[in-house]
Amino acid sequence: MMKKSYDVIIIGAGIIGCCVAFELAKKGHKTLNIDKLPAAGYGSTSNSCAIIRLHYSTPDGVSMAREGYYYWLDWGKYLQTVDESGLIKYVNTGCVVVKTERNKYLKNVMRSLDELNVIYQELDAAGMKSVMPIIDSRAYGPPVLSGDERFGEPSGDAVAGAIYVPESGFISDPQLSTHNVQRACEAKGGEFAFNAEVAGILKKDGRVAGVALKDGTEIKARIVVNVAGPHSYLINRMAGVEEEMNIKTRPLRQEVCHVPSPEGFDYNSLGTMISDGDAGCYSRPEVGNHVLIGSEDPDCDNLEWVDDPDNYNKNFTNQWKTQTMRGAQRLEGLPIPNKMQGVVDLYDCSDDWIPIYDKSDLPGFYMAIGSSGNQYKNAPVAGVLMTELIQKVEGGQDHDKDPVKFVMKYTGRLCDIGFFSRLREINPDSSFSVIG
Ligand SMILES: Cc1cc2nc3c(=O)[nH]c(=O)nc-3n(C[C@H](O)[C@H](O)[C@H](O)COP(=O)(O)OP(=O)(O)OC[C@H]3O[C@@H](n4cnc5c(N)ncnc54)[C@H](O)[C@@H]3O)c2cc1C
Repeated sequence: MMKKSYDVIIIGAGIIGCCVAFELAKKGHKTLNIDKLPAAGYGSTSNSCAIIRLHYSTPDGVSMAREGYYYWLDWGKYLQTVDESGLIKYVNTGCVVVKTERNKYLKNVMRSLDELNVIYQELDAAGMKSVMPIIDSRAYGPPVLSGDERFGEPSGDAVAGAIYVPESGFISDPQLSTHNVQRACEAKGGEFAFNAEVAGILKKDGRVAGVALKDGTEIKARIVVNVAGPHSYLINRMAGVEEEMNIKTRPLRQEVCHVPSPEGFDYNSLGTMISDGDAGCYSRPEVGNHVLIGSEDPDCDNLEWVDDPDNYNKNFTNQWKTQTMRGAQRLEGLPIPNKMQGVVDLYDCSDDWIPIYDKSDLPGFYMAIGSSGNQYKNAPVAGVLMTELIQKVEGGQDHDKDPVKFVMKYTGRLCDIGFFSRLREINPDSSFSVIG
């Protein structure tokens, strides 16, 4: 039974919302996660590819992913509890990242990996094949649309090269991982309300005072955190804080393809993740000896911004076929089935594809949004980060002028939360894609 007041209300019970609540509950705050869906992780988290990789274009991006990686490895210890549904598993596959002109031949990425002492190997075409024999190492890029006469035709004998990052993989079940965190949070006293939709943000004396649900129920809290995923901009509008933000968020439609692996190849056991800016897609093993193929948002593609996250096309389009054919450029013998399988869902995309972890101009109202298709892996770190931020700001620190910093537990690196500010200028070092 929901009480009438809490210390902190978290809007959303996806992976990030649950991790934020868990950390706050560990610090003794009485938390309530509110979600309009029937269970934790049923929003965009449920369709996440749940890739855990370390290559990002900025040292801050790499360091957060590096920190997050250890939480996934140490999952049981992080949770400090068991879940009757079982715990998720991290599956290590390694990742081949292809060098392209657009990603500056991975110069920024390698520099950032070096700074964090992440091990990787530089590969030429033959080296790529030695990692996975079914890789076609010819160049096909820069990517073009499927109607272009150049589509599917090699543009060179070999790609510019690649790096192999052995510490990369994915989480077996993103929805279950969220349930795991829900149970961990509950063990620390956190509460959850499902099938409950936030329709308004309450204010009193110039600060947030709680939320109003669609059925009219009012729940009081001095702190409210927007972790509403692709609905984040709607919650910010309810709070009246969107206007003052320099970086904003919008839902972006994505199709992810599942296709059978090339015949005779045990992709589940031998498959490697590929981040392929040359073909314009990424791929990883998927259960049932399938290959999962997502988009790396090449320049030629029209990004499909969605006006209403509750009403968009959930069917596959021509994008599915284009993406599968792009995957087939890199994987010899990949079949292009007639039956389209996979998922359609939304990224909560920020203007520079870097998340916003911040306060707002409304005292007590915070946001962990703009995850841009690449923050599943960082969710446990985001939980710690938001807790540090909330505690320091509530303690009087002026985060906009004097950004809160904290030392990350595993890497020992200082995380400057100001990097994720809503007031930042667009970060020119970003890849402006899901790579972040
Ligand atoms: C197709 C796809 C592939 C991805 N692949 C990867 C990947 O490989 N690696 C990676 O690191 N990241 C990936 N991501 C990104 C990652 O999944 C997200 O960053 C992460 O799941 C976001 O979690 P969240 O808790 O912020 O949001 P969500 O899981 O979307 O949760 C938000 C919740 O808020 C609730 N909500 C919204 N509005 C209201 C309201 N008014 N009242 C009550 N509840 C509300 C929703 O019901 C929802 O459950 C991918 C994302 C997608 C869509």
